[in-house]
Amino acid sequence: MANQSYLKRINRQRILLAVRESGPLSRSAIADLLALDRKSMTNLANELIAEGWLCETGVDYSSRGRPGTLLDLDRTQHLFLGLHLSENQASGVLLNLSGEILGRQERPYAPVAFLKDIRAVLQEVYLPLLRLAGGKLHAIGLVLPGILDFASATVQRSVNIPVLDGVELRRLLPRELPSELYFEESSRAKALAELWFGQGQGRSSFVCVDLGIGIGAGIILEKHLQGGPYAGEIGHVIIQPEGRQCACGHRGCLEAYISESILCRELSQALQQPIATLDEVGALNPAAEAVLAQAGRALGLGLATIVNILCPPLVILHGSLLRFAQQIFPAMEDSLATAALPSCRSRVEVRVSSFGAEAAALGAAAVPLGRVFLG
Ligand SMILES: [Zn+2]
Repeated sequence: MANQSYLKRINRQRILLAVRESGPLSRSAIADLLALDRKSMTNLANELIAEGWLCETGVDYSSRGRPGTLLDLDRTQHLFLGLHLSENQASGVLLNLSGEILGRQERPYAPVAFLKDIRAVLQEVYLPLLRLAGGKLHAIGLVLPGILDFASATVQRSVNIPVLDGVELRRLLPRELPSELYFEESSRAKALAELWFGQGQGRSSFVCVDLGIGIGAGIILEKHLQGGPYAGEIGHVIIQPEGRQCACGHRGCLEAYISESILCRELSQALQQPIATLDEVGALNPAAEAVLAQAGRALGLGLATIVNILCPPLVILHGSLLRFAQQIFPAMEDSLATAALPSCRSRVEVRVSSFGAEAAALGAAAVPLGRVFLG
């Protein structure tokens, strides 16, 4: 019996994934695509319709024989709430099963906020989205920067939001939740956002690199996020032995050269004005262009490690630094050419994400949404 219920669960996921990727589809088209017998297909489809995962939509006249009713994802029933805590704001999105954004919220907080302030701001984001979901919430995802201990659902260490160190993630939200809560680290969650809603759709493997105060990567292989909470720490790849001191205690890490906070300090000097975030930078002068070119060279050295080891068909870059692609990319290409094997480099496409600051909240919703389709 255990095997049968396992098979049934897998087949339900396969049907939903087929409809997501190729739908709307008729029952017979899905059965052919997945090599399912008609009776099982009919039973599973009826079940998925009754539970609000699929809906009937129009008639398929394209195939020979009797026209079949088309099935599509039900966009009205199961909803997903994604929440993101960054170093200075809480944000959230409410999505339906096909990834359409039904609502969004964001609230800033002071960079040195107390835990109770962060909780209060997170509630201000969560509660309106919960009300909007109107009892149809399937699951909640919460993401934040740092190393998470999934076994105990606590923040092991968050360099960006130190007040969260050691905090049980469950305590950040109200005691009574209407649905299951999932967690993920925010850079890794951005890779899930790309997989389900962005440039990673239709790809089975790619790497997403997040350039912020911390530098992290999400590695997607065969449509799954790889590694545990310690995977993807590309920010601590050493690009300059005995180089600059990094916050991690080592010297010469990529993060010590291209962390947003370090670049802001360097750009403040170059532009002779105080700059707190890269979004504040206006017109560049030659000194600021030189700072950005140096960041591009450092980034290329870090990416060369990914290119040489994984040779993923696609690398997607996230972060405010990419506003300066014109200054960053030529220098990044130069150092990729220096440090990556040509046979690997030629197979890797490097792109900039089309998501803005919302990527991590989308990724938070993608954590439970992805489980619907892939388990
Ligand atoms: Zn480091």
